[in-house]
Amino acid sequence: MKITVAKHAGFCFGVKKAIEIAEEVAQNNNGSTYVYGQLVHNEKVIRDLEGKGIIFVENIKDIPQNAVTVLRAHGEPGTTYRLLEEKSIVKGENLNDATCPLVTLVHNVAIKLKNNGYEVILFGKANHPEAIGTSYHLRGKDTFIVEDPEQYGSVIDYLSKNNFEKVAIISQTTMSVYGYRQLIDNINSKMNGLKFDEIPLNLRDMSKKYGFVDTICNPTKQRQSDTEELAKECDIVIVVGGKNSSNSKELYAKCREFGVESYFIQSYEQLDKKWFEGKEKIGVTAGASTPDYLINEVVERIREISN
Ligand code: SF4
Repeated sequence: MKITVAKHAGFCFGVKKAIEIAEEVAQNNNGSTYVYGQLVHNEKVIRDLEGKGIIFVENIKDIPQNAVTVLRAHGEPGTTYRLLEEKSIVKGENLNDATCPLVTLVHNVAIKLKNNGYEVILFGKANHPEAIGTSYHLRGKDTFIVEDPEQYGSVIDYLSKNNFEKVAIISQTTMSVYGYRQLIDNINSKMNGLKFDEIPLNLRDMSKKYGFVDTICNPTKQRQSDTEELAKECDIVIVVGGKNSSNSKELYAKCREFGVESYFIQSYEQLDKKWFEGKEKIGVTAGASTPDYLINEVVERIREISN
């Protein structure tokens, strides 16, 4: 039995940084440290951080006045900063912002496109914190979000009902590269000769009437392409990731797309001996919110099973 772990698996630099910030802030703070929202979409990591005295809240109302607070990597809407300010929680003082620079980049792309006359459509998951944060810079709750390449008809309807001068599509950083391409191809196939062409990420040329910008982040792309390799080569692929992790779910979807037997697990305890019977090549991959120790535990357990 040969076990191959994807070259790029587990924590991306944005998630690593967010955890480092939260841990450092908590260590240097005598009182309680609050994190607004799930810092990382992984239940075990959250529990470990809670053990270090960090308090996670889903509602700003639950953060006390003046409390030392950390914001997660996913990026927040401006309303979050305003509500925190009302509680005397401000950047540079007691607010530590762990927003990933690659999410900030997407916010900047959205703002620049909007300021240059584009109606911006977002390919993302409507309830995901990153999509909510990006939407804030567009039309807020009214931002048109398309979640799946098969929903291309809704985009066509939206365009035909509105007479937008220019339209651009951008993506949440953790979406499927293949899915994004498929969405654009599906839309283009129904555009009666018109077409969404790529607008380079530097936005130097914003003359196109219809365009899309590739805003999926590189760590997500690396994890998806490495998983694709595993899916092609292996008899079975184990995806390790939190239940709410968008990028881990995408890796699992990628395995299924390639028809390889695959399982999405949160930890080694869920591994089942039967899965490995008669299998020679085992692949292990993990989303950007999965710590190394969880991947190592899974690999160790598979080794035990194979012995
Ligand atoms: S997945 Fe990409 S955008 Fe999100 S935190 Fe990691 S590097 Fe940043």
